[in-house]
Amino acid sequence: MRVVLLGYGGWVSDPLYGHTSILVSRGPGEGLALLDSGEGVLRSMFECGYTDVRELRAVVLTHNHGDHVLGLPTIIQFAKVVGGKLKVVGPRETLHSIKMLLEAVSVSSFECCVEFVEVKPGDSIRIAGLKIEFAEASHTVPSLAIRVEDEGTGGCFVYSGDTAYSEQLARLAEGCDLLMHEVSFPDSEGSLARSLGHSTVSDCLRVALEAGVRLVMPLHFGLADFKLNPTELPAGLTVLHPTKCLTVEL
Ligand SMILES: [Zn+2]
Repeated sequence: MRVVLLGYGGWVSDPLYGHTSILVSRGPGEGLALLDSGEGVLRSMFECGYTDVRELRAVVLTHNHGDHVLGLPTIIQFAKVVGGKLKVVGPRETLHSIKMLLEAVSVSSFECCVEFVEVKPGDSIRIAGLKIEFAEASHTVPSLAIRVEDEGTGGCFVYSGDTAYSEQLARLAEGCDLLMHEVSFPDSEGSLARSLGHSTVSDCLRVALEAGVRLVMPLHFGLADFKLNPTELPAGLTVLHPTKCLTVEL
């Protein structure tokens, strides 16, 4: 399974980070799944070398905040023109928001190319040959964490979406290689983070340790770029610092 990081910023972040979004595939010709689709995500796909929207089998959305969905109308418009067909997967509230968003920006006749698939915590679906499972995240709106598993290679990762510390998320990531977890605030702003449904550096590491993953990638930076200090990390845990188009094979 190939995991490509398209962006790693939060809503208010350095624009050069791009908004947090992940592209995943079992391999060439197997189709692509996109996890979250903030503003400019199609441009990021192109920049990372993924230029054929017809390869997209699904866009899986964690929740309806703008930095996770505002790039979707452009993807759907593009799919209409080039003959792509894709599923838009997410919680009920998010799918409702997406339909209103498409109407608001005059993306019409999208029924030709889009199938909406509602999911909830505990659900499991299959996209592009990959098993995708969901758990409840702890955010200010209904939000899901996503587990992606390649049953062929046994590779697995979990993407937190936006969340405060979540025990369900740690359980979802058990047995996985990689945790891609949001870190929106430093530890010194822990109560602010919790009040906004976001995580600190320590929250991210706590989930990684409880899940027993060997790799952790902090994501969803705000105006600060959090570099986890390797000297403070428990043995056996490796940090992957995010960069645009970073590719991990699992
Ligand atoms: Zn959010």
